[in-house]
Amino acid sequence: MLSLKTPLNQLHLHGVKGVGFSVARKLAAAVADEQAEASIERMTVEDLLYHLPARYEDRSRMVRIRELAEGMAASILATVRVSGGYFVKRGRLRIFEISATDGTGQVRAYWWNQPWREKTLKPGAEVILYGLWKWNRGKRCFEVQGAETEVIPEAEAGAEPIHTGRHVPVYHKLGVFRTRWLRSVMHHVLESLPPISVVENLPPATIRRHQLAPRGVALRRAHFPAEDADLDEYNARRAPSQRRLIFEEFFWLQMALALRRQDRQAAPKGPRFEVDDRIRGIARTIMPFTLTGDQRTALRAIVSDMTSDHPMHRLLQGDVGSGKTIVALLAAVVAIENGYQAALMAPTEILAEQHARNVIRLLQKTPYRVMSLVGGPRTRARAQALAAMAAGEIDLIIGTHALIQEGVEFHKLGLVIIDEQHRFGVLQRAQLMQQGRYPDVLVMTATPIPRSLAMTLYGDLDVSVIREMPPGRIPVQTAVRFEEAREKVYRFVREEARAGRQIYIVYPLVEDSEKLDLRNATEAAESLQRHTFPEFKLDLLHGRKKPAEKEAVMQRFLAGEIQILVSTTVIEVGVDVSNASVMIIEHAERFGLAQLHQLRGRVGRGSARAYCILMSERNRTEEAAARLDIMVRSNDGFEISERDLELRGPGELLGTRQSGIPVLRLAHLVRDQDLLQLAREEVERICHGRWKSPEVNRLAAMVRSHSRYGLAMVG
Ligand code: ADP
Ligand code: MG
Repeated sequence: MLSLKTPLNQLHLHGVKGVGFSVARKLAAAVADEQAEASIERMTVEDLLYHLPARYEDRSRMVRIRELAEGMAASILATVRVSGGYFVKRGRLRIFEISATDGTGQVRAYWWNQPWREKTLKPGAEVILYGLWKWNRGKRCFEVQGAETEVIPEAEAGAEPIHTGRHVPVYHKLGVFRTRWLRSVMHHVLESLPPISVVENLPPATIRRHQLAPRGVALRRAHFPAEDADLDEYNARRAPSQRRLIFEEFFWLQMALALRRQDRQAAPKGPRFEVDDRIRGIARTIMPFTLTGDQRTALRAIVSDMTSDHPMHRLLQGDVGSGKTIVALLAAVVAIENGYQAALMAPTEILAEQHARNVIRLLQKTPYRVMSLVGGPRTRARAQALAAMAAGEIDLIIGTHALIQEGVEFHKLGLVIIDEQHRFGVLQRAQLMQQGRYPDVLVMTATPIPRSLAMTLYGDLDVSVIREMPPGRIPVQTAVRFEEAREKVYRFVREEARAGRQIYIVYPLVEDSEKLDLRNATEAAESLQRHTFPEFKLDLLHGRKKPAEKEAVMQRFLAGEIQILVSTTVIEVGVDVSNASVMIIEHAERFGLAQLHQLRGRVGRGSARAYCILMSERNRTEEAAARLDIMVRSNDGFEISERDLELRGPGELLGTRQSGIPVLRLAHLVRDQDLLQLAREEVERICHGRWKSPEVNRLAAMVRSHSRYGLAMVG
């Protein structure tokens, strides 16, 4: 019998239409990927069903072409009449366009660099086009750029009641699966799911108290609203079924947080370090500059945690470039001088290598044994290094978060420093505790959590903030530029490169295809080198390169052998090349605010004036325009993260996972604040003073056993 617990990769055994063995596997993989979850086997029907629609459409009555109006966001159903592709911009951009009609008029739709559309959008094809319609005066018709499409298979035209003639859900792409296919599968899965197998997961008293929809009903309705439902309410995420699921998400988040607070109070004591004048002297000798006031304050708080016997669990927030690394390193000195080992972990190998380089230089005058352990094959050297760790022959180890995930053995681990934790998404501290270790933990992030949320989300974490920038920094000047200004932008790049500065050009991950994305960056790099910047040395960095290659490219950029670095977002966090003065971000409208701010932080690290140029399509959503506008107006990471939170919905943007905010799939921290508050009170009511009760124990077991309830979140 199909149930919520049925593993997704066995979905084909349950006679769900359209799902065979290989599709089931692909689906499980796509869901795992969406949740940043490593284990495909663990993905269940439940995980699939929590991939909720991005929006809802009333297809009982489609908009006709004749009814379109300027700036209207609408779906039309039309037949493709002509289609074709051509190159523009000296072959650098490929446009594919169609002309389509529904009997009441004609429209044009076009896409940049999406050649795969040619396969499906052939003349005669029936297609639903959704996007922002604009009147084209020259062609005298409405047109749309980058429309979402749903091609109606010939065999099904008019036959399937799931897709047209009713209220329909529209989904974000899930792996290779597009909205139409997802709609069918969700429909069939929900149909085959006996109501009794959808077990309620909230306490009955909670459901009653807040008059919540039962889980089964909520799941069904959140995918397929009733025919008399108010779709505006659905699209605003205010329908009772959606509110119930949002409440549920907050409930488990709050439950997980409450448990963490409880665990922490029950945790054994942490190491107790001592600090004397000798250690202060050593600290002074390794510091290449005077600390700013904020750095000093943060360090004082950290040292005070370290010298007390409760285990430190501190978040160090500071904007990009504010100088968190040196503070962390001084904390490491305290641990090492007390006879403990320290670990510094970064989210990417490039960053770990960079830390290792800097740290080794800074610690030159000390006798500390520092080792960097970055990914790499399981060679003998690595095995020896690990043995040295376990034997206590290493004082400071630097690596990626794999250090902890793989359960690397330490001799006497006293301090763990986690850099840029927002890229992790997982709860390293819990992993440490599961391994029976209680070192002091310092988490650093450049994506500040707005104060309005810190209390709710990080209730058990101490927070230090570095607001002040090291002296001599000039704020990065930011501008938005459109396609027609490209030559001018390149001229500017040439001037800067001639003046001896270095330039980044970053390409986004294209949602549709990682391969395409890679090709975009690769082709762009080739063409830029050959046609645009033949006189400069240009190189390419992307995620598919081997760690050694990446590192080599970074090294050459750092050494100034490369003037222009073309890259996908792998350079995002923390890379420090102080001679870089220009950051160009292509398709900036596709990035989230946190990510844009991070990228911009790659320049302006020296004392020269720096620039960030956001290349954008004219045709973009209002929200994207608002994001770029904020970037132009503000350099303050705190302000940006507050605005970010207001603007965005869960899971809808590139970079959401990198935001420092827990992965919420349905809930929106600002929009749904009322529910967040309710959930918080509810958890408090259930747990307060009743930690030993069977009910709380049952809920706690659920949080601990279920990865989605444990919510991949908060360091
Ligand atoms: P982030 O907080 O983004 O990790 P880093 O620690 O990488 O920032 O520091 C950014 C740059 O500022 C580094 O080049 C670092 O050497 C420099 N820096 C940090 N603190 C100071 C200071 N007090 N005075 C001068 N330069 C500093
Ligand atoms: Mg850093």
